[in-house]
Amino acid sequence: MPAIQANPILRLIPREEHNVSRKDISPNALRVLYRLRDAGFGAFLVGGAVRDLLVGGHPKDFDVATDATPEQVKQLFRNCRLIGRRFRLAHVVFGREIIEVATFRANADDGSGDRETHEGGRVLRDNVFGSVEDDAVRRDFTANALYYAIEDFSVRDYVGGFEDVRDRLMRLIGDPETRYREDPVRMLRAVRLAAKLDFQIESATAEPIPRLAHLLSEAAPARLFEECLKMFLTGHAVASFEGLERHGLLAALFPETAAALASNRSGALRRMLVAGLSGTDARVERDEPVSPAFLFAVLLWPAYCRSLAQLQHGGMHVTEAERRAADRVTVHQLNTVALPRRFSLPMQEIWLLQSRFSLRQRKRVFRLLSHPRFRAAFDFLSVRLAASNEHADDVEFWREAQQQPGDVLAAQLDGHSAHDESGEAPRRRRRRRRSGSAAAGE
Ligand code: ATP
Ligand code: MG
Repeated sequence: MPAIQANPILRLIPREEHNVSRKDISPNALRVLYRLRDAGFGAFLVGGAVRDLLVGGHPKDFDVATDATPEQVKQLFRNCRLIGRRFRLAHVVFGREIIEVATFRANADDGSGDRETHEGGRVLRDNVFGSVEDDAVRRDFTANALYYAIEDFSVRDYVGGFEDVRDRLMRLIGDPETRYREDPVRMLRAVRLAAKLDFQIESATAEPIPRLAHLLSEAAPARLFEECLKMFLTGHAVASFEGLERHGLLAALFPETAAALASNRSGALRRMLVAGLSGTDARVERDEPVSPAFLFAVLLWPAYCRSLAQLQHGGMHVTEAERRAADRVTVHQLNTVALPRRFSLPMQEIWLLQSRFSLRQRKRVFRLLSHPRFRAAFDFLSVRLAASNEHADDVEFWREAQQQPGDVLAAQLDGHSAHDESGEAPRRRRRRRRSGSAAAGE
Protein backbone atom coordinates (compact mmCIF):
# COMPACT_ATOMS: atom_id res chain seq x y z
CA MET A 1 0.00 0.00 0.00
CA PRO A 2 2.56 2.64 -0.98
CA ALA A 3 -0.37 5.06 -1.40
CA ILE A 4 -0.45 5.46 2.36
CA GLN A 5 3.17 6.53 2.34
CA ALA A 6 2.83 8.97 -0.53
CA ASN A 7 -0.02 11.00 0.82
CA PRO A 8 -1.33 10.15 4.25
CA ILE A 9 -4.69 11.69 5.02
CA LEU A 10 -5.52 12.76 8.54
CA ARG A 11 -8.54 11.31 10.21
CA LEU A 12 -9.23 13.10 13.47
CA ILE A 13 -11.23 11.14 16.04
CA PRO A 14 -12.65 13.64 18.53
CA ARG A 15 -12.62 13.02 22.28
CA GLU A 16 -16.21 11.83 22.44
CA GLU A 17 -15.60 9.12 19.83
CA HIS A 18 -12.76 7.26 21.55
CA ASN A 19 -12.02 5.91 25.02
CA VAL A 20 -8.52 7.27 25.67
CA SER A 21 -8.83 9.08 28.96
CA ARG A 22 -6.32 11.24 30.84
CA LYS A 23 -7.03 9.33 34.03
CA ASP A 24 -5.38 6.26 32.47
CA ILE A 25 -2.28 8.16 31.35
CA SER A 26 0.74 8.41 33.63
CA PRO A 27 0.73 11.83 35.40
CA ASN A 28 4.38 12.26 34.39
CA ALA A 29 3.56 11.74 30.73
CA LEU A 30 0.76 14.33 31.06
CA ARG A 31 3.22 16.76 32.66
CA VAL A 32 5.57 16.37 29.69
CA LEU A 33 2.76 16.77 27.17
CA TYR A 34 1.40 19.94 28.83
CA ARG A 35 4.80 21.56 29.20
CA LEU A 36 5.57 21.00 25.51
CA ARG A 37 2.18 22.36 24.50
CA ASP A 38 2.57 25.42 26.75
CA ALA A 39 5.90 26.12 25.08
CA GLY A 40 4.13 26.19 21.73
CA PHE A 41 5.12 22.75 20.45
CA GLY A 42 2.97 19.93 19.14
CA ALA A 43 2.74 17.21 21.79
CA PHE A 44 1.33 13.73 21.33
CA LEU A 45 1.17 10.46 23.16
CA VAL A 46 2.09 7.85 20.58
CA GLY A 47 2.74 4.21 19.80
CA GLY A 48 2.01 1.25 22.03
CA ALA A 49 0.46 3.37 24.80
CA VAL A 50 -2.33 4.77 22.60
CA ARG A 51 -2.98 1.32 21.12
CA ASP A 52 -3.12 -0.33 24.55
CA LEU A 53 -5.43 2.37 25.97
CA LEU A 54 -7.79 1.95 23.01
CA VAL A 55 -8.16 -1.77 23.73
CA GLY A 56 -8.61 -1.10 27.44
CA GLY A 57 -5.12 -2.21 28.50
CA HIS A 58 -2.65 -0.66 30.90
CA PRO A 59 0.46 0.53 29.06
CA LYS A 60 3.71 -0.01 30.90
CA ASP A 61 5.45 2.89 29.24
CA PHE A 62 4.31 6.14 27.68
CA ASP A 63 6.11 7.57 24.67
CA VAL A 64 5.73 11.15 23.50
CA ALA A 65 6.25 12.54 20.00
CA THR A 66 6.78 16.22 19.27
CA ASP A 67 7.97 18.72 16.68
CA ALA A 68 10.42 20.16 19.24
CA THR A 69 14.04 19.14 18.57
CA PRO A 70 15.86 17.15 21.26
CA GLU A 71 17.80 20.28 22.25
CA GLN A 72 14.56 22.25 22.61
CA VAL A 73 13.12 19.47 24.77
CA LYS A 74 16.21 19.54 26.94
CA GLN A 75 15.79 23.25 27.54
CA LEU A 76 12.26 22.70 28.82
CA PHE A 77 13.08 19.99 31.37
CA ARG A 78 15.76 20.03 34.03
CA ASN A 79 15.41 16.26 34.46
CA CYS A 80 16.16 15.52 30.80
CA ARG A 81 18.97 13.47 29.23
CA LEU A 82 19.68 13.22 25.53
CA ILE A 83 20.51 9.71 24.46
CA GLY A 84 21.21 7.72 21.30
CA ARG A 85 23.76 8.26 18.62
CA ARG A 86 21.83 6.98 15.65
CA PHE A 87 18.77 8.96 16.51
CA ARG A 88 18.79 11.48 19.35
CA LEU A 89 16.02 10.99 21.87
CA ALA A 90 15.14 12.88 25.01
CA HIS A 91 14.52 10.98 28.22
CA VAL A 92 12.65 12.94 30.85
CA VAL A 93 13.36 11.21 34.14
CA PHE A 94 10.91 11.13 37.07
CA GLY A 95 12.43 8.83 39.67
CA ARG A 96 11.99 5.35 38.24
CA GLU A 97 9.72 6.42 35.41
CA ILE A 98 11.24 7.61 32.16
CA ILE A 99 9.14 9.39 29.56
CA GLU A 100 10.73 9.04 26.15
CA VAL A 101 10.28 12.11 23.96
CA ALA A 102 11.10 11.68 20.28
CA THR A 103 11.15 14.35 17.61
CA PHE A 104 9.03 13.47 14.55
CA ARG A 105 11.25 11.69 12.14
CA ALA A 106 11.09 10.80 8.49
CA ASN A 107 12.22 7.68 6.76
CA ALA A 108 12.48 9.10 3.25
CA ASP A 109 15.99 9.30 1.87
CA ASP A 110 16.42 13.01 1.20
CA GLY A 111 19.87 12.61 -0.27
CA SER A 112 21.50 14.31 2.71
CA GLY A 113 23.48 11.21 3.52
CA ASP A 114 21.86 11.18 6.94
CA ARG A 115 20.11 8.00 5.99
CA GLU A 116 21.85 4.99 4.57
CA THR A 117 20.20 1.86 3.38
CA HIS A 118 21.80 -1.53 3.35
CA GLU A 119 21.77 -3.37 0.01
CA GLY A 120 19.23 -5.89 1.30
CA GLY A 121 16.90 -3.07 2.28
CA ARG A 122 17.85 -3.06 5.94
CA VAL A 123 17.81 0.36 7.59
CA LEU A 124 21.13 1.22 9.18
CA ARG A 125 20.73 4.87 10.04
CA ASP A 126 17.73 7.16 10.09
CA ASN A 127 18.60 10.58 11.29
CA VAL A 128 16.16 12.84 9.50
CA PHE A 129 13.57 14.93 11.31
CA GLY A 130 10.19 15.10 9.62
CA SER A 131 6.53 15.97 9.89
CA VAL A 132 3.96 14.09 11.93
CA GLU A 133 2.82 12.39 8.70
CA ASP A 134 6.37 11.21 8.03
CA ASP A 135 6.60 10.00 11.59
CA ALA A 136 3.38 8.00 11.25
CA VAL A 137 4.32 6.12 8.08
CA ARG A 138 7.78 5.08 9.27
CA ARG A 139 6.22 3.16 12.16
CA ASP A 140 5.61 -0.55 11.79
CA PHE A 141 1.92 -1.38 12.29
CA THR A 142 -1.09 0.86 11.77
CA ALA A 143 -2.17 0.17 15.36
CA ASN A 144 1.19 1.55 16.55
CA ALA A 145 0.89 4.79 14.58
CA LEU A 146 -1.89 6.60 16.43
CA TYR A 147 -1.34 10.00 18.07
CA TYR A 148 -3.24 11.29 21.07
CA ALA A 149 -3.11 15.10 20.96
CA ILE A 150 -2.99 16.90 24.28
CA GLU A 151 -4.29 20.13 22.69
CA ASP A 152 -7.79 18.77 21.99
CA PHE A 153 -7.71 15.19 23.36
CA SER A 154 -8.35 13.82 19.87
CA VAL A 155 -6.75 10.72 18.37
CA ARG A 156 -5.02 11.45 15.04
CA ASP A 157 -4.86 8.63 12.52
CA TYR A 158 -2.90 8.83 9.25
CA VAL A 159 -2.82 5.15 8.29
CA GLY A 160 -6.16 3.57 9.22
CA GLY A 161 -4.94 2.38 12.60
CA PHE A 162 -8.09 3.38 14.48
CA GLU A 163 -10.23 0.96 12.46
CA ASP A 164 -7.61 -1.75 12.61
CA VAL A 165 -7.53 -1.54 16.41
CA ARG A 166 -11.32 -1.73 16.44
CA ASP A 167 -11.16 -4.80 14.16
CA ARG A 168 -8.24 -6.21 16.18
CA LEU A 169 -5.85 -6.42 13.25
CA MET A 170 -2.08 -6.09 13.03
CA ARG A 171 -1.44 -4.54 9.63
CA LEU A 172 1.93 -3.35 8.39
CA ILE A 173 2.12 0.17 7.01
CA GLY A 174 3.28 0.07 3.38
CA ASP A 175 4.41 -2.97 1.42
CA PRO A 176 4.85 -5.84 3.90
CA GLU A 177 7.79 -7.53 2.18
CA THR A 178 9.71 -4.26 1.92
CA ARG A 179 9.05 -3.47 5.56
CA TYR A 180 10.21 -6.93 6.69
CA ARG A 181 13.36 -6.62 4.61
CA GLU A 182 14.10 -3.25 6.22
CA ASP A 183 13.80 -4.84 9.65
CA PRO A 184 13.11 -8.59 9.95
CA VAL A 185 12.34 -8.26 13.67
CA ARG A 186 9.00 -6.79 12.58
CA MET A 187 7.93 -10.38 11.84
CA LEU A 188 8.39 -11.25 15.50
CA ARG A 189 6.70 -8.04 16.57
CA ALA A 190 3.67 -8.97 14.48
CA VAL A 191 3.38 -12.33 16.22
CA ARG A 192 4.18 -10.95 19.66
CA LEU A 193 1.74 -8.05 19.52
CA ALA A 194 -1.02 -10.23 18.04
CA ALA A 195 -0.50 -12.65 20.93
CA LYS A 196 -0.40 -9.90 23.53
CA LEU A 197 -3.46 -8.05 22.28
CA ASP A 198 -5.40 -11.03 20.97
CA PHE A 199 -5.34 -9.55 17.45
CA GLN A 200 -5.22 -11.33 14.10
CA ILE A 201 -2.37 -10.64 11.71
CA GLU A 202 -4.01 -9.18 8.59
CA SER A 203 -3.55 -11.54 5.62
CA ALA A 204 -1.21 -9.46 3.43
CA THR A 205 0.89 -8.77 6.54
CA ALA A 206 1.02 -12.47 7.41
CA GLU A 207 1.61 -13.81 3.91
CA PRO A 208 5.36 -13.08 3.46
CA ILE A 209 6.40 -14.17 6.95
CA PRO A 210 7.14 -17.88 6.32
CA ARG A 211 9.00 -16.95 3.12
CA LEU A 212 11.12 -14.32 4.83
CA ALA A 213 11.57 -16.05 8.20
CA HIS A 214 15.20 -16.86 7.33
CA LEU A 215 16.01 -13.11 7.37
CA LEU A 216 15.88 -13.26 11.15
CA SER A 217 19.35 -14.76 11.04
CA GLU A 218 20.56 -11.26 10.09
CA ALA A 219 19.05 -9.69 13.18
CA ALA A 220 21.27 -8.96 16.15
CA PRO A 221 21.13 -11.95 18.56
CA ALA A 222 20.97 -9.58 21.54
CA ARG A 223 17.88 -7.90 20.12
CA LEU A 224 16.27 -11.30 19.54
CA PHE A 225 16.93 -12.19 23.15
CA GLU A 226 15.08 -9.05 24.26
CA GLU A 227 12.19 -9.91 21.94
CA CYS A 228 12.07 -13.41 23.44
CA LEU A 229 11.73 -11.98 26.94
CA LYS A 230 8.86 -9.79 25.78
CA MET A 231 7.22 -12.70 23.95
CA PHE A 232 7.49 -15.27 26.73
CA LEU A 233 7.76 -13.50 30.07
CA THR A 234 4.87 -11.04 29.93
CA GLY A 235 1.87 -13.31 30.27
CA HIS A 236 1.22 -14.50 26.72
CA ALA A 237 3.89 -17.14 26.21
CA VAL A 238 1.62 -19.90 24.92
CA ALA A 239 -0.07 -17.59 22.39
CA SER A 240 3.35 -16.32 21.25
CA PHE A 241 4.67 -19.85 20.82
CA GLU A 242 1.63 -20.92 18.82
CA GLY A 243 1.96 -17.78 16.71
CA LEU A 244 5.62 -18.54 15.97
CA GLU A 245 4.67 -22.07 14.91
CA ARG A 246 1.74 -20.94 12.80
CA HIS A 247 3.76 -18.35 10.90
CA GLY A 248 6.81 -20.50 10.34
CA LEU A 249 9.10 -18.54 12.66
CA LEU A 250 9.90 -21.17 15.26
CA ALA A 251 12.73 -22.74 13.28
CA ALA A 252 14.27 -19.32 12.60
CA LEU A 253 14.48 -18.57 16.31
CA PHE A 254 15.00 -22.02 17.85
CA PRO A 255 16.21 -24.29 15.04
CA GLU A 256 17.11 -27.29 17.21
CA THR A 257 13.92 -27.18 19.23
CA ALA A 258 11.89 -26.99 16.01
CA ALA A 259 13.76 -30.02 14.62
CA ALA A 260 13.27 -31.99 17.82
CA LEU A 261 9.55 -31.23 17.90
CA ALA A 262 9.18 -32.25 14.26
CA SER A 263 10.77 -35.63 14.87
CA ASN A 264 8.97 -36.37 18.14
CA ARG A 265 6.00 -38.35 16.87
CA SER A 266 4.27 -38.83 20.22
CA GLY A 267 4.02 -35.05 20.65
CA ALA A 268 5.22 -35.41 24.23
CA LEU A 269 8.00 -32.85 23.87
CA ARG A 270 5.60 -30.26 22.56
CA ARG A 271 3.19 -30.98 25.41
CA MET A 272 5.98 -30.47 27.89
CA LEU A 273 7.01 -27.20 26.27
CA VAL A 274 3.48 -25.82 26.20
CA ALA A 275 2.94 -26.90 29.82
CA GLY A 276 6.07 -24.97 30.82
CA LEU A 277 4.95 -21.85 28.97
CA SER A 278 1.48 -22.06 30.37
CA GLY A 279 2.92 -22.32 33.89
CA THR A 280 4.95 -19.19 33.11
CA ASP A 281 1.81 -17.35 32.02
CA ALA A 282 0.04 -18.42 35.21
CA ARG A 283 2.92 -17.08 37.33
CA VAL A 284 2.85 -13.73 35.52
CA GLU A 285 -0.91 -13.59 36.08
CA ARG A 286 -0.35 -14.13 39.82
CA ASP A 287 2.45 -11.56 39.88
CA GLU A 288 5.03 -14.20 40.80
CA PRO A 289 8.60 -13.87 39.57
CA VAL A 290 9.63 -15.59 36.33
CA SER A 291 13.19 -16.26 35.25
CA PRO A 292 14.80 -16.28 31.82
CA ALA A 293 16.87 -19.32 32.89
CA PHE A 294 13.79 -21.43 33.57
CA LEU A 295 12.08 -20.13 30.43
CA PHE A 296 15.00 -21.12 28.21
CA ALA A 297 15.31 -24.44 30.00
CA VAL A 298 11.73 -25.08 28.83
CA LEU A 299 12.18 -23.69 25.30
CA LEU A 300 15.37 -25.65 24.65
CA TRP A 301 14.50 -28.86 26.50
CA PRO A 302 13.40 -30.62 23.28
CA ALA A 303 16.74 -29.72 21.70
CA TYR A 304 18.58 -30.97 24.77
CA CYS A 305 16.70 -34.29 24.82
CA ARG A 306 17.38 -34.83 21.16
CA SER A 307 21.06 -34.05 21.46
CA LEU A 308 21.34 -36.29 24.52
CA ALA A 309 19.72 -39.18 22.69
CA GLN A 310 22.12 -38.77 19.77
CA LEU A 311 25.19 -38.74 21.99
CA GLN A 312 24.02 -41.77 23.96
CA HIS A 313 23.20 -43.55 20.76
CA GLY A 314 26.84 -43.05 19.80
CA GLY A 315 27.79 -44.92 22.98
CA MET A 316 28.66 -42.07 25.29
CA HIS A 317 28.17 -42.59 29.02
CA VAL A 318 25.06 -40.86 30.33
CA THR A 319 26.74 -38.33 32.64
CA GLU A 320 29.18 -37.23 29.98
CA ALA A 321 26.44 -37.15 27.35
CA GLU A 322 24.28 -34.91 29.53
CA ARG A 323 27.04 -32.39 29.98
CA ARG A 324 27.95 -32.40 26.30
CA ALA A 325 24.34 -32.11 25.18
CA ALA A 326 23.79 -29.12 27.48
CA ASP A 327 26.88 -27.37 26.11
CA ARG A 328 26.11 -28.21 22.52
CA VAL A 329 22.56 -26.89 22.64
CA THR A 330 23.67 -23.71 24.40
CA VAL A 331 26.46 -22.97 21.95
CA HIS A 332 24.31 -23.64 18.88
CA GLN A 333 21.48 -21.51 20.21
CA LEU A 334 23.82 -18.52 20.57
CA ASN A 335 23.93 -18.26 16.78
CA THR A 336 20.38 -16.96 16.75
CA VAL A 337 19.39 -15.75 20.21
CA ALA A 338 22.10 -14.34 22.49
CA LEU A 339 21.41 -15.94 25.83
CA PRO A 340 23.70 -14.29 28.41
CA ARG A 341 25.80 -16.63 30.56
CA ARG A 342 24.10 -15.55 33.75
CA PHE A 343 21.01 -17.29 32.34
CA SER A 344 22.55 -20.13 30.33
CA LEU A 345 24.49 -21.49 33.31
CA PRO A 346 21.47 -21.89 35.60
CA MET A 347 19.50 -23.21 32.60
CA GLN A 348 22.08 -26.00 32.19
CA GLU A 349 22.00 -26.70 35.91
CA ILE A 350 18.24 -27.19 35.76
CA TRP A 351 18.75 -29.79 33.01
CA LEU A 352 21.67 -31.56 34.65
CA LEU A 353 19.86 -31.89 37.97
CA GLN A 354 16.97 -33.79 36.34
CA SER A 355 18.61 -37.21 36.40
CA ARG A 356 19.41 -36.79 40.10
CA PHE A 357 15.74 -36.90 41.05
CA SER A 358 15.66 -40.66 40.63
CA LEU A 359 18.33 -41.23 43.30
CA ARG A 360 17.29 -42.04 46.83
CA GLN A 361 20.59 -42.50 48.68
CA ARG A 362 20.39 -40.52 51.91
CA LYS A 363 23.45 -38.37 51.29
CA ARG A 364 22.41 -37.64 47.73
CA VAL A 365 18.87 -36.70 48.72
CA PHE A 366 20.08 -34.16 51.28
CA ARG A 367 22.68 -32.79 48.92
CA LEU A 368 20.09 -32.25 46.20
CA LEU A 369 17.60 -30.67 48.62
CA SER A 370 20.16 -28.04 49.62
CA HIS A 371 21.29 -27.35 46.08
CA PRO A 372 20.73 -23.66 45.25
CA ARG A 373 18.95 -24.65 42.03
CA PHE A 374 16.82 -27.37 43.66
CA ARG A 375 13.54 -25.46 43.60
CA ALA A 376 13.83 -24.49 39.93
CA ALA A 377 14.90 -28.02 38.98
CA PHE A 378 11.98 -29.51 40.92
CA ASP A 379 9.50 -27.13 39.29
CA PHE A 380 10.97 -28.20 35.97
CA LEU A 381 10.48 -31.86 36.87
CA SER A 382 6.84 -31.08 37.64
CA VAL A 383 6.46 -29.55 34.19
CA ARG A 384 7.90 -32.72 32.67
CA LEU A 385 4.99 -34.63 34.14
CA ALA A 386 2.91 -33.11 31.35
CA ALA A 387 5.01 -35.05 28.87
CA SER A 388 5.37 -38.31 30.70
CA ASN A 389 3.69 -39.89 33.65
CA GLU A 390 6.93 -41.67 34.34
CA HIS A 391 7.98 -38.83 36.65
CA ALA A 392 4.91 -38.96 38.87
CA ASP A 393 6.68 -41.00 41.61
CA ASP A 394 9.64 -38.69 41.64
CA VAL A 395 7.51 -35.56 41.83
CA GLU A 396 5.59 -37.05 44.74
CA PHE A 397 8.73 -38.17 46.57
CA TRP A 398 10.45 -34.79 46.28
CA ARG A 399 7.35 -32.80 47.11
CA GLU A 400 7.11 -34.74 50.38
CA ALA A 401 10.84 -34.65 50.97
CA GLN A 402 10.79 -30.84 50.95
CA GLN A 403 8.07 -30.74 53.59
CA GLN A 404 9.33 -33.40 55.97
CA PRO A 405 11.55 -32.54 58.92
CA GLY A 406 15.12 -33.68 58.24
CA ASP A 407 15.18 -36.48 60.84
CA VAL A 408 11.92 -38.01 59.59
CA LEU A 409 13.19 -37.98 56.05
CA ALA A 410 16.54 -39.43 57.14
CA ALA A 411 14.83 -42.28 58.99
CA GLN A 412 12.65 -43.04 56.01
CA LEU A 413 15.63 -43.10 53.66
CA ASP A 414 17.62 -45.30 56.05
CA GLY A 415 14.73 -47.74 55.89
CA HIS A 416 15.14 -47.85 52.14
CA SER A 417 18.88 -48.38 52.36
CA ALA A 418 18.40 -51.45 54.50
CA HIS A 419 17.11 -53.19 51.37
CA ASP A 420 19.86 -52.09 49.16
CA GLU A 421 23.51 -51.27 49.82
CA SER A 422 23.62 -48.56 47.18
CA GLY A 423 20.80 -46.62 48.82
CA GLU A 424 18.71 -46.81 45.69
CA ALA A 425 15.56 -48.81 45.61
CA PRO A 426 16.08 -51.54 42.98
CA ARG A 427 13.36 -50.04 40.79
CA ARG A 428 15.14 -46.71 40.91
CA ARG A 429 18.42 -48.17 39.84
CA ARG A 430 16.83 -49.65 36.77
CA ARG A 431 15.33 -46.32 35.97
CA ARG A 432 18.60 -44.53 36.40
CA ARG A 433 20.38 -46.61 33.87
CA ARG A 434 17.78 -45.58 31.37
CA SER A 435 17.52 -42.01 32.55
CA GLY A 436 19.24 -40.43 29.57
CA SER A 437 17.13 -42.15 27.01
CA ALA A 438 14.04 -41.75 29.17
CA ALA A 439 14.46 -37.99 28.85
CA ALA A 440 15.05 -38.30 25.15
CA GLY A 441 11.92 -40.33 24.72
CA GLU A 442 9.69 -37.61 26.08
P1 ATP B 1 5.19 -2.93 23.69
O1 ATP B 1 5.82 -1.80 24.42
O2 ATP B 1 3.86 -3.34 24.17
O3 ATP B 1 6.09 -4.05 23.50
P2 ATP B 1 5.26 -1.08 21.52
O4 ATP B 1 4.49 -1.00 20.24
O5 ATP B 1 5.15 0.06 22.44
O6 ATP B 1 4.87 -2.45 22.21
P3 ATP B 1 8.04 -0.47 21.43
O7 ATP B 1 9.19 -1.34 21.10
O8 ATP B 1 7.94 0.13 22.79
O9 ATP B 1 6.75 -1.33 21.13
O10 ATP B 1 8.01 0.66 20.31
C1 ATP B 1 7.30 1.88 20.44
C2 ATP B 1 6.77 2.32 19.08
O11 ATP B 1 7.86 2.52 18.16
C3 ATP B 1 5.88 1.30 18.38
O12 ATP B 1 4.55 1.41 18.81
C4 ATP B 1 6.05 1.69 16.92
O13 ATP B 1 5.26 2.81 16.60
C5 ATP B 1 7.51 2.10 16.85
N1 ATP B 1 8.37 0.95 16.48
C6 ATP B 1 8.95 0.07 17.34
N2 ATP B 1 9.67 -0.85 16.68
C7 ATP B 1 9.56 -0.55 15.38
C8 ATP B 1 10.11 -1.11 14.19
N3 ATP B 1 10.88 -2.19 14.23
N4 ATP B 1 9.80 -0.51 13.02
C9 ATP B 1 9.02 0.59 12.98
N5 ATP B 1 8.48 1.16 14.05
C10 ATP B 1 8.75 0.63 15.25
MG1 MG C 1 6.32 0.34 24.27
